[in-house]
This record gives sequence, structure tokens and C-alpha cells, in this order.
Amino acid sequence: MTAATLRQIIDSAEAGKHAVAGLVVLGWEDALAFTEAAEETGLPIVLQAGPGARRHTPVAVLGKMFRHLAEQARVPIACHIDHATTLDECLAGIDSGFTSVMIDGSSLPLSQNIALTRHVVEAAHRAGVSVEGEVGFVGYAGGRASAFTAPSDAARFEADTAVDALAVSVGNVHLQTEKTEGIDIAALSAIEAVTRVPLVLHGGSGISPATRRLLARQHRIRKFNIGTELRQAFGAALRQVLAEHPDSFDRIEILRSTIPAQRAAARDVIVNIGPG
Ligand SMILES: [Zn+2]
Repeated sequence: MTAATLRQIIDSAEAGKHAVAGLVVLGWEDALAFTEAAEETGLPIVLQAGPGARRHTPVAVLGKMFRHLAEQARVPIACHIDHATTLDECLAGIDSGFTSVMIDGSSLPLSQNIALTRHVVEAAHRAGVSVEGEVGFVGYAGGRASAFTAPSDAARFEADTAVDALAVSVGNVHLQTEKTEGIDIAALSAIEAVTRVPLVLHGGSGISPATRRLLARQHRIRKFNIGTELRQAFGAALRQVLAEHPDSFDRIEILRSTIPAQRAAARDVIVNIGPG
């Protein structure tokens, strides 16, 4: 089917009071595995190209790949640029066929974040593309610390930018390799009380499946970004195939054999936060 926008996918999650998976793609095999997982479950997903993937592979190539998968799929798939920090990066994504962009102005003072995000929203909406923004700062394990999202900042950001989705910082942290119970439910509820925009949690890998499910069902989290957990599934599958076939040297043979494990890991993520 036609590639969906983030807005379309999140609107249907909002109606069903559940969440969708924003799955971080690094190359062809994981993109294919995640698409197959979506089709297997019959549920929509968001394929996401982050800064690392865009440094490794030209965004025009990623756009073609994502659009090809979305157009072949029997379920709605949005093609999303994750963590763009400039208008130009967003425009390059839009020109390359992406149906959604995240403009991350979270390192800027609030008024500059709002101004940048508003520019992106104007350009993206003209092109029929959705926009995710971020207020507060979602930190990185082993890197820069988080700054929680102030509810009043979230309310002002929503009113001034008209973003389709808003990433918030409430104890979630990028790149966590272990599950923690760090989500501050009171902080999240305070944001929910003064906003209406669908909310996104980055750093979903650090949140247990049970907590993700609760946040999808009982709160307004409509997308979880999941990267690390899926890369761990890839790494484990890769080590296993190399251990079992120490003489293997063919790239296609080796990487193709990691697809089933990545598909299974993605399926678990998608179903857990989905409807039902
Ligand atoms: Zn992120």
C-alpha cells in the first residue's frame, strides 16, 4: 500500500488507545525483518532512519528502500527521519520520500526550539509530511544526562508548533542495554494533564515490556522508539551464525541468516504495545 504518514498511524493508535513501534533501521536486513514482522502481526509500524544510518548510507538510498518496503507491504508503514537537527536535513528527508520527520531542537533554548520546529512543520505539512518534536532532553546511557520535560514547556510547544507528535523526557534514556524501571509516571501524567498531542518515548529499549504496555494502555504514549534491543537481537544472531559456520565468508549468506531473529524480536515489540 501507499506509505503512511506518522500522523495517520498515530491517529489510529490514539483511536485504539495503544502505541506503535518506531523501529530503528540500520540497513536492508533489519528493514526487511521489521516489515515482515509488521505483516505477520497485521499491525502498522514506523521505520526510522536515525543519524547513524544516514551517516552510513545516503538518505536518498534509505528513502527509496523504506518507500519500496512500505509500498509492497499489506499494512501501513510510515517512513521516518529520526533526530534531524536542521531544517535542511528535514527537507532532504522529505525530498527522498520520507513521510515523517523528527526535528530535534531539544538542545536549544525553548524559544529557539519552537521557532525551528515551527519552520519544519510549515515546510513538512505543505508536503503532506508529519513532524515529531522534542521538549526536554532524552539523555544517553554513558553520555549526556537527561533533562525532564517541564509540563508548561510541553504545553507551550504544542500550542506554538502544531507538531503531530511530541517526544518527552520522563526517565527514559537512549542506548540502554538493560531494562530499568526509571519512568516517572507522575512526571508523565503532569505533561498529559496540560497537553493533547500524542506523546513519544525514545529509549524504549530500556523500558520493560510490561511497563511499555501499561504506558500504551493507560497513558498517551503512542510511539516507542526501539533500537538497542533489536540491535542486540542482531548481534546475538550474528555471533551464533559465525560460531556455527566458522568458514562462512559470504555477506549475503551471513546477514540473511540474522533476519529470523530480528523479525521475532520486532514482532514481540509490536504486539506487546499494540491493540488487544
Ligand atoms: Zn531518540
